[in-house]
This record gives sequence, C-alpha cells and structure tokens, in this order.
Amino acid sequence: MTNYQSLGVRPVINAYATVTKFGGSLMPPEVLSAMNEAAGSFVDLAQLQRRVGERIAELTRNEAAYVTSGAAAGIVLASAAAVLRKHPEALKRLPDIRAFKAEAIIFRAQRNPYDYAIHQTGLKFDEIAGLPVALRNAITDRSACIFWFPRGNACADEISLAEVIAIGAEYDIPVIVDAAAQLPPVENLWRFTEMGAALALFSGGKDLRGPQPTGLMLGRRDLIDSIRPISNPNHGLGRPLKVGKEELLGLLAAIERYLTLDHAARAQYCEEAVQLFCAALNPLPGLRAERVFPNEAGQPLPWCRVTIDPTALGKSAEDILAAFLAHEPAIAVSPLDETHFHLNPMTLNPGEELIVRDACLRLLRLDRP
Ligand SMILES: *Cc1c(COP(=O)(O)O)cnc(C)c1O
Repeated sequence: MTNYQSLGVRPVINAYATVTKFGGSLMPPEVLSAMNEAAGSFVDLAQLQRRVGERIAELTRNEAAYVTSGAAAGIVLASAAAVLRKHPEALKRLPDIRAFKAEAIIFRAQRNPYDYAIHQTGLKFDEIAGLPVALRNAITDRSACIFWFPRGNACADEISLAEVIAIGAEYDIPVIVDAAAQLPPVENLWRFTEMGAALALFSGGKDLRGPQPTGLMLGRRDLIDSIRPISNPNHGLGRPLKVGKEELLGLLAAIERYLTLDHAARAQYCEEAVQLFCAALNPLPGLRAERVFPNEAGQPLPWCRVTIDPTALGKSAEDILAAFLAHEPAIAVSPLDETHFHLNPMTLNPGEELIVRDACLRLLRLDRP
C-alpha cells in the first residue's frame, strides 16, 4: 500500500490553521472526483485553463480568472503582469528587467515572507510608510504596481485599501491584493476586485479546500491575458509554475462547492468547538482559555486562545506544542509565544474537536508527570 503509514509518517489532526506546513486543507469528495475525472483523458491544457478561468470568473463576479500553482505563484505572475503592462518587450526577458527599473510599492507594516515572490520577477521594492502622502510621493514612472497584503485586525493600517486603490487609479498604477488566506468570508472572492483592485490572489489549498498546489488570480482580463504567453504550457517565467488538468478541474469544483457551502453552519461548528475547549480547559489550574474573534488571519471565525502559567504547569508553551505533536494521534496547535497558543477549529473534521479536547485534558493536567 502507498500511504503515510508505510513511510512511517504520522497523520496529524490540524487544530492550527490552513498552513502549508501541515498540508493546507483536506480536499472534499467533490474535488477528488473532479480530479479523478480530469485524470482520465488528455486535453488541450491551454483551452482548459481558459474555460476553467471563464467559469470561475462568472462564479466569482470577476472579469477574468486564472488558476496558478498557489497564491505565492500568483504573486510572481501578477508582478510579471504589472511589468508587461508597461514593458511588453519584457516578455521573453523576465526576470532580467534591470533595464526597465521596474518597482513594486509595498507598505513597510505589511512586509511578510511571501513578498519575496515579487523579487522573483525582477522587481525592486519601494518600501513605504502606510500614509497617503508617502504613497503619492513614492509613485514615479518606475512604479509598476502597488501590493496590498491584508492582515488580521491585530494592528490597524494607517492607510486603507480604498485609499490605496483611489490613489493608484489617479496615477494609473494597478493595485494587487494578496488575499491568500482571506477566505472566509466567501464575498472576498469579489470584494477586493469590486473595490477596484486590479488583481486579487487567493490560495486554492487553504479554506477553498482545492488541491494544495493551486491558487486563484481574479481580476482584470488584460493583466491575466498578458501572462498566458509565458505560462504553462508556453515557455517563459511562468513555465515552472505549472498546474495540471487535475488541479484545474479540482480547483473549479472546490470553488463551486465553496459558493454553496453553508457558511453559517460552519461558523456555528467553530463556535461550539471553542465553547467545548473553554469549558474543558478553564477548570484546570495554571491556564485560562478564551474565545477570540476574529482569528489571526482576520477570518470571521472564532478560535480558542489558551494562556498558560509556565511556572505553575512546569512546562512552556513550546513543550506543550511538542507534546501535542508527540501525542497519539498527533495534533498540531497554533503557536503564539511563550505563554500562549491557540486551538483553531477551522481545519478540524467534525468529531476531531473531542479528540483535541481529550488530548488537552491529558496533556495539561497538573497531576500528569
Ligand atoms: C498562504 C499565504 C501565501 C501563499 O499561498 P500558497 O497558496 O501556499 O502559495 C501568500 N500570502 C499570504 C498572506 C498567505 O497567507
């Protein structure tokens, strides 16, 4: 049998988030059967990408859509589209675009590990403060695009996306939104582009529960069409970022499913799981559990914050995280710092909340060695 067990790799219950590190999300049967269907015959891949894109665009109220090999790949291709818009002659030269001195404007407070993907296209960063005046001052004839990385509500941005879009429009600079983890709410599939963002990028393998190596680029047709000549099955910058026929149909099926999902029932499940965790943990000495809303990514779902007293418990949050992973079954919980971690219900299969609760009781009780 080809499976995890035969390789000595332990399956993990995911109470962390839709993190790539633990496999993103689980594909539902509708997605698997669409992939299976796709695997049964050869097809014209470029035509399939176009038809899937048209269908996704229609479903998500966008002008155009393109399936990428992840949101990070979407950042690479969106950056390329921004360069090609001003320098069509760069098509076969990307990422060697030194001659064009193209820059991407990004906000200092939004810097994150994924923005590296902008560099891959050859763009230089123009890193600025989150103020309208800083944005106006930064815009020059080298500016190819403005990137926006929405964050949870942990710290308020000084400038809003609406302001960025308005200023971008004034100077004809496209705004690209990295919305990789901004689902739910489902409305975000059209919200950013309806606001005027040129492109919005999503992960296919996070809450959409499509194939893990997929992503979604939504927005302007001219920008999306500009990257087709350098993307699979054509040659150029995008060729290594390949998606196959199975991913194309799988992501489409995932989006169709997501649009008809009972999001209220799902939110209710998360509420009940958080209540269950709080009720089980709060009687234990040395820790406190509370409902926090929205969660870290700003998704409108609750999660459970656990604050521990490492002295009373005789262990650090890091020890506890390791104990959850060593537990049978292995459980991944969301790390924060030395005295906090989170239990996230959004990636649990129904029933697993009980396994997580029981593991908490086993691992966090003081009378345990
Ligand atoms: C997850 C994530 C990405 C990367 O998405 P992939 O689909 O895994 O490539 C990029 N940006 C942000 C903000 C993310 O959360």
